Amino acid sequence: MKLVIAQLQHETNTFSPVPTPWESFGGADGPYLGRAAYDAMRGTRLPMAAFIHLAEAAGAEIVTPYAAWANPSGPVDGAAFDRFCDLLCEAVAKGCDGVCLDLHGAMVVADRTDDGEGTLLERLRRVAPHVPVAVSLDLHANVTEHMVSLATIVTGYKTYPHVDQYESGHLAGTLLLRTLRGEIKPVMAWGNRPLLSQTLKQNTNEGPNRAFVEAALEAERNGLLAATAFSGFQQADIRDAGISVVTVADGDAAKARTECERILDVAWARKEEFIYRGEPLEAALLRAKKTADAVGGPVLLLDHADNCASGANQDTMFVLREALRLGLTGIAVGPVRDPEAVAAMIAAGVGASITLDVGGKMDMPAIGRKGEPLRLTGVVRAITDGEYTVTGPQFTGMRCHMGRTAVLDTGDAEIVVIERNQEPWDRGVFTSVGIDPTTKRFLLLKSRMYFRPVFLPIAKDHVFCDAPGVGTSDWTAFEYRKLRRPIYPLDEFAAGHR
Ligand SMILES: [Zn+2]
Repeated sequence: MKLVIAQLQHETNTFSPVPTPWESFGGADGPYLGRAAYDAMRGTRLPMAAFIHLAEAAGAEIVTPYAAWANPSGPVDGAAFDRFCDLLCEAVAKGCDGVCLDLHGAMVVADRTDDGEGTLLERLRRVAPHVPVAVSLDLHANVTEHMVSLATIVTGYKTYPHVDQYESGHLAGTLLLRTLRGEIKPVMAWGNRPLLSQTLKQNTNEGPNRAFVEAALEAERNGLLAATAFSGFQQADIRDAGISVVTVADGDAAKARTECERILDVAWARKEEFIYRGEPLEAALLRAKKTADAVGGPVLLLDHADNCASGANQDTMFVLREALRLGLTGIAVGPVRDPEAVAAMIAAGVGASITLDVGGKMDMPAIGRKGEPLRLTGVVRAITDGEYTVTGPQFTGMRCHMGRTAVLDTGDAEIVVIERNQEPWDRGVFTSVGIDPTTKRFLLLKSRMYFRPVFLPIAKDHVFCDAPGVGTSDWTAFEYRKLRRPIYPLDEFAAGHR
């Protein structure tokens, strides 16, 4: 048996000004190709690692054309996408018994397609119309009917924060092997509802999204081979953004359809609960200050609209500017992407006093804002290569590359400034530059959800700080043109609408 196994993951924020060239994927040197892809993925907790384990246990010959994961950002470069398609098709065209793909499901490609995964599968089908293809997707996939029609098996993560990537790959891979052995005949159903759920309400440990995912788990307990409740990725102006469900049954198409609709109805019935209601920034920061004055720190200040994991620039300074104006002290900020500021601090050297513009270097035309740097004076506390290994509960063992990194200490705030976008998904963003996050009064994090497993255990409290950014949870900030309408909450629906 011969299996082709590859990873191509990108969550595209079509409103993001951050470009996504070939070099954005993979490690410091770009996408992992061939044997390097196998070496980079084997032993991780990612879906591709599960595919590799299963293939090895089955004694299969393994071909790994690439492993390519990029931070969320603007549309993927068209030529880079073509190269990924070609590499996969070349590997598959040499002959194989099955294909396992570790994809995201919300990839948009500049000048090519709004349905990156659908188009990748379409090109794959031109060289391999009948080979079984198993696909694992992210919970934030904007799954299309086209994508599902071209795959044999589709599964997805059931947790957000994502801690079950391996399990999703393991389920898809196991079903593929059972298909190849003739034990099952997978049939799938796909469906969606016109609901743009908001990322802050997608935590699968509580509220409506827990119920949505629980409905999928129940379908699996009721005998489906797989069922996934996708939250979708809504910072994308494409027709099919929003929630969707994919079910996989053994030969029984009617059962797959019935369960798919039942799971979707669970989410639609609670649509109001998927909407986040914010508060003015000043009120949030004063509440955080009161808490820190009363019980100490750290209190988390969550600058969720500038979270690079939603494709944001990760360089807005609105929350820090307001926090300093309101007299907050003992703040660690991390990380802010600003290669220019890093270069200036490296030129000044550790221990030097420096006045410079930090952040705000990128305009955000999609939300009508120019970049607004913050002029700061401080001491350069540290300069590092920005590398660390994740020790936390998700992405464990992954090597992270923030690019050259410098810390500016203004007295009231220590700001970690980096060259490459990096979500604060591990304490390593602070500890690698000599900051102990447990000793700070405030941690200003460009984070929306990943602070939960990592920083919540050491925090006294956490406060969502609403500020401008292309990762905002306020959909009215965007001008959607391609999105299907009507859709909730942008449009009203009559009671009983289904
Ligand atoms: Zn995700």
